[in-house]
Amino acid sequence: MIDRRSFLRASALAGAGAFAGTGFTSAGPRPADWSALGRGLDGTLIRPGDASYDNARRVFNSAFDSVRPTGVAYCRTAADVSECLAFARRHGVPVTSRSGGHSYAGWSTGSGLVIDVSPMNGVSHSGGHATIGAGARLVDVYAKLAARGVSIPAGSCPTVGVAGLTLGGGLGVVSRRYGLTCDVLESLKIVTADGKVLTCSPNSHPDLFWASRGGGGGNFGVATSFTFRTHPTRPVTLFFLHWLWSKASAVLKAWQAWAPAAPDAMWSNCHLGHDPSLDVMVGGLYLGGKAACESLLHKLVDRVGSAPSNRYVAVSAYDHAMMVEAGCASMSVAQCHRPGTLPGQNPSGRLVRDSFSAKSHFAYTPLSSAGIKALLAQVAAPGRHIVMLDAMGGAIGRVRPDATAFPHRKALFSVQYFSHFAGAASWARAAHAAMRPHFGDHAYVNYVDPELKNWRQQYYGANAARLAKVKAAYDPGRLFRLPQGV
Ligand SMILES: Cc1cc2nc3c(=O)[nH]c(=O)nc-3n(C[C@H](O)[C@H](O)[C@H](O)COP(=O)(O)OP(=O)(O)OC[C@H]3O[C@@H](n4cnc5c(N)ncnc54)[C@H](O)[C@@H]3O)c2cc1C
Repeated sequence: MIDRRSFLRASALAGAGAFAGTGFTSAGPRPADWSALGRGLDGTLIRPGDASYDNARRVFNSAFDSVRPTGVAYCRTAADVSECLAFARRHGVPVTSRSGGHSYAGWSTGSGLVIDVSPMNGVSHSGGHATIGAGARLVDVYAKLAARGVSIPAGSCPTVGVAGLTLGGGLGVVSRRYGLTCDVLESLKIVTADGKVLTCSPNSHPDLFWASRGGGGGNFGVATSFTFRTHPTRPVTLFFLHWLWSKASAVLKAWQAWAPAAPDAMWSNCHLGHDPSLDVMVGGLYLGGKAACESLLHKLVDRVGSAPSNRYVAVSAYDHAMMVEAGCASMSVAQCHRPGTLPGQNPSGRLVRDSFSAKSHFAYTPLSSAGIKALLAQVAAPGRHIVMLDAMGGAIGRVRPDATAFPHRKALFSVQYFSHFAGAASWARAAHAAMRPHFGDHAYVNYVDPELKNWRQQYYGANAARLAKVKAAYDPGRLFRLPQGV
């Protein structure tokens, strides 16, 4: 018996005059090869000239709008992914995986074949475990799990894909209580370069499982689904406290001592913004009631030594809190998507794409007075930009740095220099350089930064050597190639 896929592949090879016995054609794929690939998929292949091509090729950051892949394959199954990888191997076509398309460097698009897993977006839950398709967007993950009274720790941006987030770690607003997204990962299905579909867990392909928890997307294979341990949800308390810029130094000094040492249920960030005016804000989420939250906030305010100029503290349903953190407080779940009819989009979607530049650090020690002064000077520099400090510690820090591929367990907080206005790249570069003497050389692979020189050490620290071994074992021919591929 020859199945439909094998038949179509055989016909395409015959038509292309493939070299017998090698499986390789002499040149790149011909139009007929692409057509055969499209016919062989349960999903859809979109090619230049197709009506939806421009929509399909564009990722979240519009800075990469000039990139034109030769095909975007919306894969419905792991078998579709295997088929795409076989095509890439056979024809020497560069291949790129894509979930939510939020890679800071645009590394989920390219000149060859984009394997988009968005159609695999199912979310199911049973007995404290959630199985989530690799193309699910975070807004759908939160909403579908909330309907079952559970959740997983994950990021804020609603259209980030669960695959990219998890494979790189996954910092979120309940991570101090429940860990990184990769910390609650129990198993994943991944299609490796040879087209095999592997289930990885602590007992099956444990090295690949380890590498898939912080080693970064796009390195080891194409993940198609993840199984996570869930936690029950409950009402939470949200807060946003603003101070006048003249208090920024006192706020930063107080926050960096208070936030990483707070009880696990308390997560917060400190935003130092210049957009367009200067602003300092401490916002966050407390997994508990308002009175207990207020008492913790009093400790912060006492440390600052002056009351906020503006404050909001309110109890919220868990799922609504995730919509607030997503910037979708006044939208429906359907609206909290990119508009469109392609997989991952929603016809009612209202979210627009962005053009931004960003860089990151991790703070392993509190900033000195000189460090605080230097950071505030970068924020106050001309332009429109923001520095975002996200508290770590708690459950994140109780995992050993080598227990997963994400090594920054002892960091007190993450640091992001983010701008989406004219001059963004040069400001982010200057701010990062100015703060390097204060924060040192540590970076988050999910805020991937093509300009980093010693990126291996910065993203992975002492885990880099083990990651290289996993890469050699599972992708010896380096089918998956990133400019910063492990
Ligand atoms: C606005 C915004 C907000 C963010 N907020 C947070 C946050 O709160 N917390 C946090 O930790 N991070 C956050 N991030 C960073 C985010 O986690 C990373 O950019 C992440 O890699 C995006 O995943 P994605 O699937 O959306 O992106 P993609 O661009 O699709 O993928 C990212 C990388 O993973 C690879 N990849 C994609 N799918 C697969 C797959 N199925 N199998 C294997 N590799 C794959 C891609 O090739 C690419 O290299 C944010 C990013 C943005 C732009």
